[in-house]
Amino acid sequence: MTRCHARAEPVSTDVRAALVGVRALILDADGVLMYAGRPLPGAVQALQQLERASFPYRVVTNYSSAHRRTLAAGVSRSFGIPVDPRRLITAASAAAAHTARHHRGEPLFVLASADALREWDGQRTLSADEADRPDARLGAVVIGDAGDDLSFRNLNIAFRAVRSGAALVAMHRNAWWVTARGVTLDAGALVVGLEYALDRKAVVTGKPSRVVFRAATDELTEEAGRPRLRLGDIAMVGDDLRADVAGAHRAGLRGVLVLSGKTDAISLAAAVDSGTARGGARPDAVATDVGSVIEALLSAR
Ligand SMILES: [Mg+2]
Repeated sequence: MTRCHARAEPVSTDVRAALVGVRALILDADGVLMYAGRPLPGAVQALQQLERASFPYRVVTNYSSAHRRTLAAGVSRSFGIPVDPRRLITAASAAAAHTARHHRGEPLFVLASADALREWDGQRTLSADEADRPDARLGAVVIGDAGDDLSFRNLNIAFRAVRSGAALVAMHRNAWWVTARGVTLDAGALVVGLEYALDRKAVVTGKPSRVVFRAATDELTEEAGRPRLRLGDIAMVGDDLRADVAGAHRAGLRGVLVLSGKTDAISLAAAVDSGTARGGARPDAVATDVGSVIEALLSAR
């Protein structure tokens, strides 16, 4: 006897209906605004329309190798329009906001690139030598994309500090990524190694963690003013079902998928049919690209 397999309801393409009442937006960067560092078609105009309409938005990315000012300067050059670094939130800036909130005034050992480390200006970051002193009492250890600074010595300092009571914070758990040199080991692999050695999980600050969404929604709530913004009035636009859509849903936001990046119509349909889009990863709507989302958004107001 064959079992009747009911096909799941397709995801709505009525973006306008899905965005009614939305008063602030979170945009993913890669696969939504840009691909390989270059703007996707319609992305420049989408940002210009949001700026002209004074519509509150943030660009949230797990990229964490640079300070937001450096990142904004690079995007400005590539897009040919000024990009305000205050509109960007990275896994690094979210980690800095997290330690400012939860470890205020406490000594920190942050493994990040020199440029990204500037996100901690005004907080007490220690050098490896300082953090290695027997009397150092660290509030938190932060593991990010520190390249060769993710050395055995530095990871051992981090390991000992967490064993002595410091919190373990990681920008992400990504295992590998692609650079100009090809496939490259990513910092997440070392985070997982530390978690194994410590038998505890790190607080991850990048997507799909609530930490980065919290950083964005706090800023947007302040910018939107009154009436006070509710989480359900904020929509996330992303190309990743797990990091963007499911992450947004867990944070209480709406999630719109665009097909301009890593998810195409076939893989979306497969995810919906197989049920892997359950658990918050089923988008509220699907759109071809960010341009059509912004048009629907502004016409729904
Ligand atoms: Mg993306």
